[in-house]
Amino acid sequence: MTIPVYQNFINGKFLANQNGATFAVTNPATDEVIYHVEVADKFIQDAAIQSAKQGFAVWSALTPIERSRILLKAVTLLRERNDELAKIEVLDTGKPWQEAECVDVQTGADVIEYFAGLAPAQVGQQQMVAEDFYYTRKEPLGICAGIGAWNYPLQIACWKSGPALAAGNALIFKPSEETPLGAIKLAEIYTEAGVPAGVFNVVQGAAEVGQWLTHNPDIAKVSFTGEVGTGKKVVASAAGSLKDVTMELGGKSPLLVFDDADVSQAVSAAMLGNFYTQGEVCTNCTRIYVHKNIYQQFIEELKSRTEQNIIAGDPLDPQVNFGALISKKHQDLVMSYIDKGIAQGATLLTGGKTLSPESAPNGYFVAPTVFIDCTDDMTIVKEEIFGPVMSVLVFEDEDDVIRRANDTHLGLAAGVFSQDIKRAHRVTHKLQAGICWINSYGNSPAEMPVGGYKQSGIGRENGIETLDHYTQTKSIYVGMSNIESPF
Ligand code: NAD
Repeated sequence: MTIPVYQNFINGKFLANQNGATFAVTNPATDEVIYHVEVADKFIQDAAIQSAKQGFAVWSALTPIERSRILLKAVTLLRERNDELAKIEVLDTGKPWQEAECVDVQTGADVIEYFAGLAPAQVGQQQMVAEDFYYTRKEPLGICAGIGAWNYPLQIACWKSGPALAAGNALIFKPSEETPLGAIKLAEIYTEAGVPAGVFNVVQGAAEVGQWLTHNPDIAKVSFTGEVGTGKKVVASAAGSLKDVTMELGGKSPLLVFDDADVSQAVSAAMLGNFYTQGEVCTNCTRIYVHKNIYQQFIEELKSRTEQNIIAGDPLDPQVNFGALISKKHQDLVMSYIDKGIAQGATLLTGGKTLSPESAPNGYFVAPTVFIDCTDDMTIVKEEIFGPVMSVLVFEDEDDVIRRANDTHLGLAAGVFSQDIKRAHRVTHKLQAGICWINSYGNSPAEMPVGGYKQSGIGRENGIETLDHYTQTKSIYVGMSNIESPF
């Protein structure tokens, strides 16, 4: 069987690189190479900038409603091709079909649809100043860059391109080198929908190609999703040409379960927020603080549901609800955190080992893992693991648990479970996190802004305010009276 080789997508079509460099992409559930991708060399990089300049000139000259109509066609195509695209996401990421089939493509399409609807409604201001007046225009930034992580590849490409394109920008998108195909399929769909050539370009490669995007002076903005450490490098590099940045980074989010909570619901949230997408979700509530009065009940239900209800195996099997980690390297990293947890004195309630399910024996699986007897200073409680590893901690006092929850440089998300409406809101208002859920966890509709406090991010994705992050305000002062001049 010949293994396909995908090229970069520039100026509305595939373009071969000149240095011939490629990289391989592996299916994490089988350990088999599924395709190769050409790296964006200097020739491709120059062509991407040239193409984006031309695309921007055409696209920004359209009215917002004209752009909206084209983007809505892309939304229809995305939904029509849901199953084909979801399968690509399963093969690239190792996540279960069960999830990809109803989440990855849908939530991507939702965001493009949302911004396509919103763009024509974005208005400036006008104000009289004595007899004169000024008005403002919301103008696109120009060429923007998007750099994606590997956990929700197509969704991230949609979340970045939706607002960027709706606002009239051109985008050069670099997907993660682990999961490059979804963005290519999105490029084909945009082109088929009528997005002009050069408006959405896909360049492929790892850190070096990302670094080129963050350095290039023709690029006005970088929207990045990835690790905190990489995000810091991106911001530092973008500062060289004073680019606007949006940073969607990692987290170590707390879930606070009070003694008046519906315990089964809280267990559902804890499991969703640690085991969905086999734990590779940025907002995961990996620190679960449980009130001592319900602690025993909580961990008993958590253990039995984790051991009975999670089905690891071939991610394409619709019965499977727990997939493989992205790579062998990542599997090793997650296992090294588990080892540290044990070495530092946490107790394994369940899991703590790799898995080799019958239907996917070579996949990079790690069993859903729960640690109890955790303390706030343990490495597993402090650092993002990005795998299915949950730490359960005990608390007694409301103020104390808020202090402990906030005692981190990260601040992406947080959750509170309590039936006491006043307590739920009071506590949530004190949590230092950009996304908070009350008696819920993980939902992220297109309408809701998402992003991190502290080192978890800069700026927001989704929600009305994001359109402002892809436009700049031009103020135009109009003189209606004679100029008074001392000269
Ligand atoms: P990563 O930081 O390793 O890589 C992200 C992207 O950056 C990749 O495309 C990579 O090629 C590129 N890159 C690497 N070095 C670069 C550099 N020096 N300059 C420019 N680009 C560079 O992250 P990952 O392992 O792909 O993703 C997992 C991380 O992403 C986790 O920390 C997770 O929390 C975070 N994440 C955050 C969100 C969010 O919305 N906040 C969403 C998904 C994932």
